[in-house]
Amino acid sequence: MRRRCCSALLLALVACTTLSVPEERKLGADFEREARREFRFVNDPIVVGYVSHIGQDVLRAAGPQPFEYRFYVVDQAEINAFAGPAGTVYVHTGTILKARNVSELAGVIAHEVGHVVRRHIAQNYSKQEAASIGQEVLVLGAGMVGGGAAAAGANLVGGLGTMAVINSFGRQAEREADDFAVGVLPQAGYDPNGLPSFFETLMAEGGSQMPVFLSSHPATADRLAATRAAIARETLPPDLRVDDGGRLEIIQQRIRLLTGGARPADVR
Ligand SMILES: [Zn+2]
Repeated sequence: MRRRCCSALLLALVACTTLSVPEERKLGADFEREARREFRFVNDPIVVGYVSHIGQDVLRAAGPQPFEYRFYVVDQAEINAFAGPAGTVYVHTGTILKARNVSELAGVIAHEVGHVVRRHIAQNYSKQEAASIGQEVLVLGAGMVGGGAAAAGANLVGGLGTMAVINSFGRQAEREADDFAVGVLPQAGYDPNGLPSFFETLMAEGGSQMPVFLSSHPATADRLAATRAAIARETLPPDLRVDDGGRLEIIQQRIRLLTGGARPADVR
């Protein structure tokens, strides 16, 4: 009984603590290794470079950051994007293909960067850790009574399960990431209307299976209205980028060639 009480206390402590920056850095490296096993990436330097360039524009505007960000393109048709610990940002090819202009793609990327900058990933990772400890407590208990099911269940923690947990955000976190995006995009040279504009696409596409990007509580329509209202309150500088002279279309065509039909060697 004593051991169980200590575990419960530890669980409560972990649940209340956000990862420190050094802790998050270490987890980021582990997470990237895991992601390399779990996902199929587009490694074409032109496609990855295009996404990274937009990400670096956002980061320059955001100011000094404690993490070195890395941007990845995941070969997945589903519209989605997500962030890992310590500044790893993953964008599905489906998102790039559905973006109507570069400001929409910049909106998605800025939103994901916002989850890292606002420490939402660190907070969620702490919760996930707490859940793992909870599982261990369960396994200890199961061991005592000789049950094996709980131990098997505990093995499911990690991998894609971890990814889903650390990317499940509440209303407040989604609003903060949207606010971050809307604030940073004009400083990065992009029209912030790209974010609400992409919400329109999501609403048009949104079937029964909503992507992580919009899976949590605030309805997309609410986020669209909130971001439009936030933008209307700002005085935007002139000449913000909506399009990028056909570059996005070239990247989209390249993705179609790389990921459709016969697979060239640089896609795995
Ligand atoms: Zn989000």
